[in-house]
Amino acid sequence: MSDEPRAHLPRPVPPWEEQRHTLCGRPITDVKKMGTLAACAALAKREGQRRAAYDYCQTCMERARYAARSWETDPIGIMHDWLGRGMYVSDVEREHITASLHALSALIEEHREEFQTHRGATESGVPSLSAARAAKRGLRGVR
Ligand SMILES: [Zn+2]
Repeated sequence: MSDEPRAHLPRPVPPWEEQRHTLCGRPITDVKKMGTLAACAALAKREGQRRAAYDYCQTCMERARYAARSWETDPIGIMHDWLGRGMYVSDVEREHITASLHALSALIEEHREEFQTHRGATESGVPSLSAARAAKRGLRGVR
């Protein structure tokens, strides 16, 4: 075992969210070492959970077992977790998330047609961000 601090894991958030936390609940700016969900999972798979526990925060590892993985594959899981912070963590978080939701609705109202186009792409099975990125690049059929 090394003297290096154990790495924490990032809590997945919606792509517009700039406030980042660890899965154990700390602001990312307050921790010394960050890992990734993929690297932690790969180490645990390759060398076992006990070995990975030397390198990663125990609370982060435990919560990673149930955390949503990515916006592209599980936006509902990420939104559920993100909105939950506003419901249960603090008034500051609640105000931040409320302001973000009001900003989203204002943006959608200003760009209703573009929103409908992206949502239509989602209903056909293509994640909206992928569709948006593909549209920007002029590509079709990219997932
Ligand atoms: Zn942690």
